[in-house]
Amino acid sequence: MDRLHVDRFQKMFLHAAVTIIEKEPELTRIDSVIGDGDHGTGMKRGFQAVKTLLEHKAYEYVDELCYAVSIELIKTMGGASGVIFGTMFFGGIDCLAHTPEVTAAQLSAYFRKGEQSIERKGKAKPGQKTMLDALDPACRAMEKAAFSGDIEALFREAAAGALAGVESSKMVRSKVGRSKNFQDKTIGLPDPGAVSTGLIFQAFYESLTSE
Ligand code: ADP
Ligand code: MG
Repeated sequence: MDRLHVDRFQKMFLHAAVTIIEKEPELTRIDSVIGDGDHGTGMKRGFQAVKTLLEHKAYEYVDELCYAVSIELIKTMGGASGVIFGTMFFGGIDCLAHTPEVTAAQLSAYFRKGEQSIERKGKAKPGQKTMLDALDPACRAMEKAAFSGDIEALFREAAAGALAGVESSKMVRSKVGRSKNFQDKTIGLPDPGAVSTGLIFQAFYESLTSE
């Protein structure tokens, strides 16, 4: 598949929303040990709003869909992660054309620019135990896979990259955000935001390959 149609992408976002809602207890459990315990409920609130929105409205253009998702997350989640996950889908919107379909190269540029935007806003870098530990390797994997032009390969590699990043975040002592206060207690557990990022990319790929 060399183009991703907006209808397909909307289904992928819906599946990601359902997955995050289902996994709320796991996200809460991790953030309760190395944070203030609100990551799961914040993500669930944001993605419940996204799910409701996407169940009731269809989008004609890819940039319009991504804009709607990001604004909904920023509006409903609040807190650090509202801005962070909103920015993940907002920061790179100008890499997507105002068209019903986009290419692997456009998607790869879109996610990378979103990642860079999070780095700028949050003043964190990959490797400091944040969601960037999953998003950066996902972007790197997409940059490689985008050469093939195949959308399925792009999301397969993104999911694999993100999940490898979640694993590697386990051994990092937190350097930023609330989890910094928990120091050694953070070793052995993944970053909750990285887990969410892994779940989102995994759900994108599952949805893409389920039809
Ligand atoms: P809060 O930290 O306000 O309680 P959440 O618990 O919802 O927000 O989200 C915490 C997650 O946000 C962390 O697991 C981490 O992935 C992400 N995060 C926190 N600060 C930053 C930052 N500066 N850059 C990137 N991600 C961050
Ligand atoms: Mg928290």
